Amino acid sequence: HLYPARAEGDARRQEIVRVALGGRSYDIIIGDGLLQRAGDYIAEIAPGAACAIITDENVARLHLPTVEQSLKDAGLRATTIIVPPGEASKSLSVYGRVCDDVLAARIERRDLIVALGGGVVGDLAGFVAASVRRGSRFVQIPTTLLSQVDSSVGGKTGINSRHGKNLIGAFHQPALVLADVDSLRTLPLREFRAGYAEVVKYGLIGDARFFDWLDADSDAVFHSQAEQICAVAVSCETKATIVARDETEQGERALLNFGHTFGHAFERLTGYDSARLVHGEGVAIGMACAARFSVRRGLCAEAAAERVERHLKGVGLPTKIHDIPGWRDDAQAILDAMYQDKKVERGALTFILLRGIGQAFIAKSVDANEVLGFLKDELK
Ligand code: NAD
Ligand code: MG
Repeated sequence: HLYPARAEGDARRQEIVRVALGGRSYDIIIGDGLLQRAGDYIAEIAPGAACAIITDENVARLHLPTVEQSLKDAGLRATTIIVPPGEASKSLSVYGRVCDDVLAARIERRDLIVALGGGVVGDLAGFVAASVRRGSRFVQIPTTLLSQVDSSVGGKTGINSRHGKNLIGAFHQPALVLADVDSLRTLPLREFRAGYAEVVKYGLIGDARFFDWLDADSDAVFHSQAEQICAVAVSCETKATIVARDETEQGERALLNFGHTFGHAFERLTGYDSARLVHGEGVAIGMACAARFSVRRGLCAEAAAERVERHLKGVGLPTKIHDIPGWRDDAQAILDAMYQDKKVERGALTFILLRGIGQAFIAKSVDANEVLGFLKDELK
């Protein structure tokens, strides 16, 4: 286990997390200065390949020149495809355009698609890679904390339909992931916090010592690159371990949805309006709710739930439904939104609950009335 040696002061400038999936195994390299060295890493796995870099306008402005120069220096031909920033780019129309642009750039099966950006770019470019020529190789260069700790691990790619989020997609593993903490320097604080909620999640679901480490100095990860490298590595390792055991979400992978059954409902009811709520904020409130719901069901000590809440609040994350600006919906509306989640199986509500910090478990067939009662109290 990488952790806890690192967390106890043995911080390193670079970490490598191997995602073990047989013939589809790959490395996640976590460190600084990786954007500048991207060309060398890519040339190593695909010497002389042509690359199609897919990115969004914000990331293009801030980090694309570094990556383009690096590919050029490594003797790789690169074409760049830029999409508008934001969730709206995970659409069929943008997907179609990007596929055509990739084909126009004569990217062959042995060439590479490079996703440079946050989770939106990663999901879109990954799905383009999964489908162009029935599957092309791709490299992820995630530039948000959320994409470094979450969306770049596990191989889920996809776009949204008017029927819901991520409903069109494929499992397609990257050949390599380069997570450069330098890119986090330009990330707006609110986006950083949102990604941090997912970092906290990994501690809460299975690693109490990791949570302790985060909780001992909650500012550290926000300010120190060494701590960021550690936090990203531990997060990726936790997700990679779970994904390796359950690649297609038949069981254990559901633990990664901790805070998400509630969180997705809040996102749905705010119309995915990022001005009101971004995903990580929904997850933060969702995790606090799941902890309190666990206490209410007599599963978890109240002190643990309070600690979760205090930690999230301490870094500026929301923990209550009423923290969402302009919230008006009632408990029934939240319950209905939960039923619309694609992860709800045939009417039964599944929650990830806590027995304590670092001890999450899958609670199947939770009684809807119990959830309703809980939500009513949450809204008081
Ligand atoms: P995002 O990609 O929209 O990025 C957030 C914002 O930050 C955007 O405006 C972007 O332009 C900007 N940005 C990106 N990198 C930046 C940088 N280094 N400096 C400054 N600005 C930068 O959002 P996200 O939070 O990274 O990802 C959210 C998406 O990820 C959602 O679509 C979600 O469904 C998906 N996701 C996928 C998985 C998966 O397993 N595939 C997991 C979690 C989330
Ligand atoms: Mg999430």
